[in-house]
Amino acid sequence: MGSKAHIAVIGAGVFGAWTAHHLLRAGHRVTLVDQLGPAHSRASSGGESRLIRAAYGKDAIYTRMALDSLAQWQALSAISGRPIFIPAGILFFFQKEESYLTDSVAAHRQLNLPSELLTSNEMKRRFPMIDFDGVEAGLFEPSFGALMARRAVQSLVEQFVRDGGAYLRGAALPPARSSQSLDAVELTSGERIQADRFVFALGPWLPKAFPDLMAPRIRTPLGYVHYFGTPPGNDRFTFPNMPSFNFPGVTGWPALPPDNRGFRVRLRGDIATDPDASQRVFDREKDKLARDFVRQRFPLLLGAPLLETRACHYEMSASRNFIIDRHPQFDNVWFAGGGSAGVGDVSGAGDRRRGDVECRAAVDQADGGAADDHDSARHRVRAVPAGLTRDISRHIRKGSI
Ligand SMILES: Cc1cc2nc3c(=O)[nH]c(=O)nc-3n(C[C@H](O)[C@H](O)[C@H](O)COP(=O)(O)OP(=O)(O)OC[C@H]3O[C@@H](n4cnc5c(N)ncnc54)[C@H](O)[C@@H]3O)c2cc1C
Repeated sequence: MGSKAHIAVIGAGVFGAWTAHHLLRAGHRVTLVDQLGPAHSRASSGGESRLIRAAYGKDAIYTRMALDSLAQWQALSAISGRPIFIPAGILFFFQKEESYLTDSVAAHRQLNLPSELLTSNEMKRRFPMIDFDGVEAGLFEPSFGALMARRAVQSLVEQFVRDGGAYLRGAALPPARSSQSLDAVELTSGERIQADRFVFALGPWLPKAFPDLMAPRIRTPLGYVHYFGTPPGNDRFTFPNMPSFNFPGVTGWPALPPDNRGFRVRLRGDIATDPDASQRVFDREKDKLARDFVRQRFPLLLGAPLLETRACHYEMSASRNFIIDRHPQFDNVWFAGGGSAGVGDVSGAGDRRRGDVECRAAVDQADGGAADDHDSARHRVRAVPAGLTRDISRHIRKGSI
């Protein structure tokens, strides 16, 4: 593909925004489109904050991706006026020393990450505000932490526009098959966006827009976030005095001064409904679960008032990997998604965030580096063993995905 190809990226969540950014940096003309605006309230990326972490067991490829992404988030944070990355650290808890923990540690050692394997006693001494009952070991990642999600994505899109990218608001209709290549995406307004390549980064809307291809591959449960009030005048539960944490099934972090929302608890999601129509209302059952968790692990917060709740859809791909691949029927249409992918099922952690990596994968692939020699990849859409761009490109070239 020539260096000045026009690429349309549909979806301005974290996947689409970073994809657009990297494509622009690579010298392409890029148009980014979103139906409701970057990181809007219904988008997966529209939450206040998200965790970036590096513990992925033996899937060291994700550890490398997280590290690679962290540098890019930090760079964005440095130019964004208000901080985007909050280096709260993250503490993972394990009932016993299991392979997920030891594999993660081995991967971190290889990359010289300053992660620490902690015993229960060490954790009790360092983090006295947490109840470690039944927890035998912990992994502390001091260099990772929280990202101010909505602000990050919105800042990135603003930067993209300042850099010369085009952003417009509009809802794209799924492309109808007419030839081997797509020449334009039509918006519900009737406007047509002509481009040489298209990347659909629709997050939880992927199964809706491409039901045949994506519905069997992606589930979109609704995840819940609860914010509890911390005692005024007591900063024990406020960054930097305690780290982010991950107990099986629950992720959270201290109150983060940049947003001052309160002490955050995120529960695993359940119901998969339509992201356009779902009601994001207070759920009494989820409230009880969140309070039970706080009571058990943070007893000093017993009785803390619930300040607000949020609910949003995330994506779980069937293979638990990102989906970054070409549309099987159009040779110039790509998908980038599967964000939450379900590593959480293994670690108890929430999800993964490394937008820049997904995006650069799309860049490489859209660049057509492997376009002529990966027919086996081209005619199937499936979750790739997501990894660094170079890994994906290499896999594709070998036809091994
Ligand atoms: C409660 C919760 C907690 C989470 N915690 C974490 C965490 O701690 N760490 C982590 O890494 N991840 C976490 N995640 C997951 C993470 O937020 C997502 O993986 C990520 O935001 C997905 O980004 P995306 O760009 O794929 O999707 P989205 O952010 O949903 O973006 C997709 C965009 O596509 C647009 N779109 C859809 N259809 C169309 C169309 N037809 N035309 C135009 N635009 C369209 C939408 O409007 C939307 O803006 C969490 C998710 C939830 C819900």
